[in-house]
Amino acid sequence: MSVCIKDQIQNMNLVIGCTVGCPYCYARNNVRRFHMIEDFAKPEFFPQKMRLMEKQRPQNFLLTGMSDLSGWKEEWREEVFAKIKENPQHQFLFLSKRPDLLSFSTDLDNAWFGVTVTRKSELWRIDALRENIKAKHYHVTFEPLFDDPGQADLTGIDWIVIGTMTGAAGRKVRTEPAWAYSLTEQAHALNIPVFWKEDLIPIMGEENMIQELPEEYEKVLEEQRKWNSRLSK
Ligand code: SF4
Repeated sequence: MSVCIKDQIQNMNLVIGCTVGCPYCYARNNVRRFHMIEDFAKPEFFPQKMRLMEKQRPQNFLLTGMSDLSGWKEEWREEVFAKIKENPQHQFLFLSKRPDLLSFSTDLDNAWFGVTVTRKSELWRIDALRENIKAKHYHVTFEPLFDDPGQADLTGIDWIVIGTMTGAAGRKVRTEPAWAYSLTEQAHALNIPVFWKEDLIPIMGEENMIQELPEEYEKVLEEQRKWNSRLSK
């Protein structure tokens, strides 16, 4: 039985707003609908949300569900990194579509830096990730996919996620099974775990779903189960 990625990794939207401007951005629509900030193109930082990081029950957190790391001010990033360091019980993920705008190094053990690739012409983002961000963990999300990425250089990448366009647009552009299988084979050849998002079930078939997580995230989920069973006693 496949799982929903949101049950494994929760959003903590410390920054809301993004300047990248993807036409299919669901975050922009939600921000407008719920009037979360004035202008989505002007990212805002909500440091008070960082108190969630102080919880001792471990969690996997995505910190860029409504932003792109390239749009974060350096001082926001530094404040968040300091808090991450104080809370090694969690794992934290960041995503960017503009790794060419980023340049930093970090020795954080529990921070994962990734790029989104939606087509072959965006494979350069993986090189820029490795070149511009010096970190301990890297990941790549192939979602939504608009064409076949072909051969991707996944050297040094620790996890890949594959998904497809959802909603009404998903009827027009969708990830082809051959693209997902090719990326999966390339990753597995390097022992990289692969996670197919639940949106791929109608395309790939429930019985074929591959949903592997890095060891570090599995450890967090295992700890969560222990916490839950202690609480239910
Ligand atoms: S990078 Fe993400 S948050 Fe920014 S516009 Fe694109 S989909 Fe939206």
